[in-house]
Amino acid sequence: MIGVTSLPDHTLLIDGSWRPASDGGTRTIACPADGSPVGTVAEATPEDATAAVLAARRAFDEGPWPLTPAPERAALLRRLADRLVAEKETVARAESLDTGKRMVESRIDVDDIEAVFRHFADLASADAGRVVDTGMPDVSSRVVHEPVGVCSLITPWNFPLLQTSWKVAPALAAGNTFVLKPSELTPHTSIWLVRALEEEGLPPGVANLVLGAGSVLGPVLTGHQAVDLVSFTGGVVTGRAIMAAAAPTVKRVALELGGKNPNVIFEDADLPAAIDNALTAVFLDSGQVCSAGTRLVVQESIRDEVVETLVARAEGIRLGGPFDEHAEAGPLISEAHREKVATYVREAIEDGAVLRCGGGPPEDPELADGWFYRPTVLDRCTQDMRCVHDESFGPVLTVETFSGTGDEAEDAAVAIANDTIYGLAGAVWTQNAGRAERVARRLRHGTIWINDYHPYVPGAEWGGYKQSGVGRELGLAGLAEYRESKHIWHNTRPAPAGWFEVREEQA
Ligand code: NDP
Repeated sequence: MIGVTSLPDHTLLIDGSWRPASDGGTRTIACPADGSPVGTVAEATPEDATAAVLAARRAFDEGPWPLTPAPERAALLRRLADRLVAEKETVARAESLDTGKRMVESRIDVDDIEAVFRHFADLASADAGRVVDTGMPDVSSRVVHEPVGVCSLITPWNFPLLQTSWKVAPALAAGNTFVLKPSELTPHTSIWLVRALEEEGLPPGVANLVLGAGSVLGPVLTGHQAVDLVSFTGGVVTGRAIMAAAAPTVKRVALELGGKNPNVIFEDADLPAAIDNALTAVFLDSGQVCSAGTRLVVQESIRDEVVETLVARAEGIRLGGPFDEHAEAGPLISEAHREKVATYVREAIEDGAVLRCGGGPPEDPELADGWFYRPTVLDRCTQDMRCVHDESFGPVLTVETFSGTGDEAEDAAVAIANDTIYGLAGAVWTQNAGRAERVARRLRHGTIWINDYHPYVPGAEWGGYKQSGVGRELGLAGLAEYRESKHIWHNTRPAPAGWFEVREEQA
């Protein structure tokens, strides 16, 4: 038993009223670290989701939020950021209980979330539009920004409140209304968020929260005529289904669908730094990170040194629950997800990969009630194997090698690193600055780290090439995804167009 205590029960927020599901359904949330109950939440029905969409529609069409002055919207976001500072421990604890992740990671997430709200508050305040010079003295022409409308925001379980904030903060900054559906597994910090927004003065109906299964609520949130935009983060299979569901009503769609991210190490890299970061790249949050560096692409000449060190260090990683101060990595999110990871590893071995460490749950009886999986290294992987193409979304590193020297080595590394349907992130390790720049530009992935892995800053772009996503901003950079741009042409001296001749009998 890891020391988890229960959170209070909660309900749905629809049109400014906290209510149970219309059929009274509930779901008990269990901590993945030890299976202990964390709380019981309402399980919404499709009718609840429809009511939430219609409430968001009304709140958008009737206001006042879309027309609230941008500085006021910004002020609300800043108050939310202040609350995150004041309630950091509560929020981090709720996140850790739902996900099983270590408190130290949840606290970092809360700091990141605070930065996201402040970033979008700044963008909201600076939202001035632009003047277009027509060269005509009697005409003023300008482009103004307006909110898109009703947004369905659908978020996953790996960074529940951070992923949610990347959507909620820009949606509100731009003046939209929304229905939020967090992962059915991790609802508690979303409940905290909408409650805090409500208490900070967000008008009723602007933020609506439905909890429950994507398969049940998804069709309403992604297909309803009254929804203007769907922003989704999750798996590529679900992303494809959402894109199809949104097509008949031509909704705006923003998708972040994960990656199969290459971490490329050349023989001239700073190896101690590269190896240490390779561990963080893949084993942080037990590999449940869309940008995790799950594919090690290493030059043949240094393969043995890199792999031997990585295996030794991976075997030493200490697993544990949220409140174990010695733990370095937590559990997987659920039993089903652990089984998915185990199947992936089994298939990799069938395909010829060599299991160097991990490959199953830990033997420690203290961890037997949680969904832990040992850090795993699969060596001798080749491009024809499923394991280098499919996401495991677990603590599993595949090792591929390239050889040659000079340009030949670069070509070989780039070819392997780009051989994926995904294109979210990747890294290149080399002390040759020219090579670093050349390879970074050739990698077809939306974020490339040079001699680093994982950092991001609000304000930098985040988004995927290829099947990793649609929409460059995805709530991290600017507000473009969440607003429309309108061109207003104002002729202050209206006059006949004079195109067609006015005949005498018509005059
Ligand atoms: P999903 O993509 O199924 O879930 C993400 C969110 O979408 C959840 O809120 C989910 O609800 C919801 N959802 C599911 N089906 C629909 C639908 N038809 N319409 C609308 N919303 C829907 O991810 P999983 O949790 O099943 O994980 C599967 C794989 O996805 C992982 O193994 C990993 O590879 C990838 N993934 C990628 C993430 C990323 O950051 N890019 C994050 C999480 C997963 P519900 O909670 O009910 O399932």
